[in-house]
Amino acid sequence: MIIAVDGPAASGKGTIARALARHYGVPHLDTGLLYRAVAHRVLTEGLDPAREADVVAMCDFDDRLLEEPALRTDEIGKAASIVSAHPLVRAALFQRQKRFAQQPGGAVLDGRDIGTVIAPDAQVKLFVKATPMIRAQRRHAELRGRGHIVSIDKVLSDIRARDDRDSRRSDAPMRQADDAMLLDTSFLSIDAAVQKAIRLADARLKARADG
Ligand code: C5P
Repeated sequence: MIIAVDGPAASGKGTIARALARHYGVPHLDTGLLYRAVAHRVLTEGLDPAREADVVAMCDFDDRLLEEPALRTDEIGKAASIVSAHPLVRAALFQRQKRFAQQPGGAVLDGRDIGTVIAPDAQVKLFVKATPMIRAQRRHAELRGRGHIVSIDKVLSDIRARDDRDSRRSDAPMRQADDAMLLDTSFLSIDAAVQKAIRLADARLKARADG
């Protein structure tokens, strides 16, 4: 059983994907971390995220890098969205994600192109969204909690810029797969969003089992 969870930054897709993985007892991969790991290496080496050939050379890394807390900053998120637009970078990370998706027993993956490119045959596909303002408020609260003082306007414009880059790129743009179920978390608590995701996934699995 493969569950694909896609959506923009701060939509709640990561929390929902982790909860679904726990609920169904299958492993979970946050695919954004792969692009973040590449971005982290690019910046650490002093390379330019916009230069595809330089970035491709950074795509082969140890899984331990995915545990690095520094991958979670907004600066790395922004660089990740620049490196992820390069087709050769996406190609270099493709097999790793595909292998994870196809492991025996199933998996949950979250990202931007899981339902469309990485696992188009996933049994359950969710596209998680929330309004840009609500996503900015969530991200703003999270940043404040970590002691970062930044205006909500700046967070909102960063979110819009990232949405734009991710949905306008030519290779594997972020979009809802035709057979994905839409889950709008704008006015849902975390718990309510998770419960709704489980209900949607259960219904889709049952419908498939019933043929
Ligand atoms: O989800 P997260 O914010 O960690 O993703 C960071 C960036 O990685 C995204 O803005 C997007 O550009 C890229 N990404 C992608 N495809 C995925 C997951 C993430 O292009 N499947």
